Amino acid sequence: MRQPLIAGNWKMNGSKAATVELLNGIKAGIGDIGTSEVAVCPPFPYLYLAEEILSGTAIRYGSQDCSREEEGAFTGQVSATMLRDFGCTYAIIGHSERRLFNAETNAVIARKYQMVVAHGLTPILCVGETLEEREQGKTEEVVARHLDAVLDLPEGVAALAKGVVAYEPVWAIGTGVTATPEQAQEVHAFLRQRVAKKSAEIAAKLRILYGGSMKPGNALELMAQADIDGGLIGGAALKAADFLAICKAGDANV
Ligand code: PEP
Repeated sequence: MRQPLIAGNWKMNGSKAATVELLNGIKAGIGDIGTSEVAVCPPFPYLYLAEEILSGTAIRYGSQDCSREEEGAFTGQVSATMLRDFGCTYAIIGHSERRLFNAETNAVIARKYQMVVAHGLTPILCVGETLEEREQGKTEEVVARHLDAVLDLPEGVAALAKGVVAYEPVWAIGTGVTATPEQAQEVHAFLRQRVAKKSAEIAAKLRILYGGSMKPGNALELMAQADIDGGLIGGAALKAADFLAICKAGDANV
């Protein structure tokens, strides 16, 4: 049995006041959520608010990225140690927006993954193809490459036992176009089978989230798929009521 994880990726949105309101809104509704694990990933400057407002609740929080370096002269970066300092549980790694706008390669992402794990945080590794890649029939090739960046680390499949994978088709992110449950399930099953070739046990326990325009209206159907274990939510995570409704949908699929 894999506990569903619903994680909000707030991206570069909000203000101090809006963050306080959103955190309090989620906190107020968390009592109605049963089995789903709930997490939010606010922008770095607001992590202290998550620490203040969420402490003592079941809501976990994390970052949207992490430096691959321990410390030192890396202007603008935030280390895993700092994230731990603020009580983070999760760190999103390899989001397609970072691959695109920050030119993050699979090698960089794999290093970040290791760094996050080394500091006791749980990485949420994002994988996913662009529309062009899907249309060229390259979906499996692309997501395999993204996954293999971690699977091929010296620690091998054991590294994946310490993380979560999020399948996020780039064409579905922020577009309002969601992968159909069948399209998503197909890729999730492919990813799980790829891990199972190395370890059936780790594959069976690995949580694979779906991300890409997941909303209250489609969450239930997506999470009803055998290999979809929750969601990484962008836009819909910015409204407490919508986010909580998705968390409820996660509960329904256990
Ligand atoms: C995301 O960027 O991780 C995401 C899933 O965004 P959205 O839900 O807005 O498509």
